[in-house]
Amino acid sequence: MFDFPGDECYNKRIDDINQKGTTMKLRKIAAVSAAALMLTGCAAQEPHSLEIYAMNTLMSLTAYGDNAEEALNAISGRMNELEQELSVTIPDSDISHVNSADGQPLQICSDAQTIISRALEISRETDGALDITIYPVVRAWGFTTGEHRVPSPDELAELLSRTGYESVELSGGSVTLPAGYEIDLGALAKGYAGDCAAGILREYNVSSGILNLGGNVCAIGSKPDGSPWKIAVADPDDSMQYLGIITAQDEFVVTSGKYERCFTADDGKTYHHIIDPATGYPSENGVSAVTIVGKSGIECDALSTAMLVSGEERACDFWREHGGFEMLLVTDDGRVLLTPGLAERFTSKTARDVITISN
Ligand code: AMP
Ligand code: MG
Repeated sequence: MFDFPGDECYNKRIDDINQKGTTMKLRKIAAVSAAALMLTGCAAQEPHSLEIYAMNTLMSLTAYGDNAEEALNAISGRMNELEQELSVTIPDSDISHVNSADGQPLQICSDAQTIISRALEISRETDGALDITIYPVVRAWGFTTGEHRVPSPDELAELLSRTGYESVELSGGSVTLPAGYEIDLGALAKGYAGDCAAGILREYNVSSGILNLGGNVCAIGSKPDGSPWKIAVADPDDSMQYLGIITAQDEFVVTSGKYERCFTADDGKTYHHIIDPATGYPSENGVSAVTIVGKSGIECDALSTAMLVSGEERACDFWREHGGFEMLLVTDDGRVLLTPGLAERFTSKTARDVITISN
């Protein structure tokens, strides 16, 4: 069970559920592998696991095979490097330097260039539902400091006048923000980190593993027995429970949910951490969680945040227009909506209505 310190409502994230499931499954797999070894004489693939805290999140990494241990150590080093480059709270990070550049161009590392470039593309495609310049507003609500508060409408209006992805200039390895603007890559940086981690496993010829970067799950290949990985999707109303299981092979499963970080204010309302850049308030559009499944970690992460802000109708239209990913939406009124490709791979564990989105 959880503690609820103060007025916080911390909920269990998809990764916690997966972690437990994975650990239990690993034991089973080890037992099955041992049996196979006795019957066939083939070498069983031993799991190697590592837990690290980086990028403000607990990362649980498991990989199988000869080079798995070295590969996980390399991933650990790379995650720490990304944190040093990208964190808004580390004063010497590239992003902190950008945020204090006061209107001047600033040369940034190639990781930050890649993430900002992709973020700006997805901002354009989602009509600004994703906007990395929303950071001053997120901070005013206290989501980066933990000092939660409800900013006044005037304060929000002033802060919003210093946001807008259209004003971010990225060219020749430099980024320029208008004075007073600040960015935060938190909506998609873990997805990018997942892409980097998957790349490291490939370099080390590791073909089976499951990486959980705080809600960004990366399924590498299949399980050692050849069956697909099973990823649990948390129920946003009771994240001790899960809605169902998605099977995944060589892809990312990324969830954004209102329940992940929120607080209840003196006015009795609960406010969550994903801000609608059009209003400066936490998105309130009837969608409580979004899971995106796809081949690119950065894209899945960016889209899970953007589709939560977009709401049911815009999210479904976005999927129809762009495709290239699968999506699960959970609505406040208790429905689970699935793209047709995901419907085939989702085993429901919920009493909610499960509806396939039309093409
Ligand atoms: P995620 O958990 O991937 O959905 O990312 C949520 C985090 O991204 C929040 O905690 C904020 O730091 C930041 N964020 C909130 N709203 C937005 C938005 N509309 N666009 C970009 N980043 C956001
Ligand atoms: Mg995201």
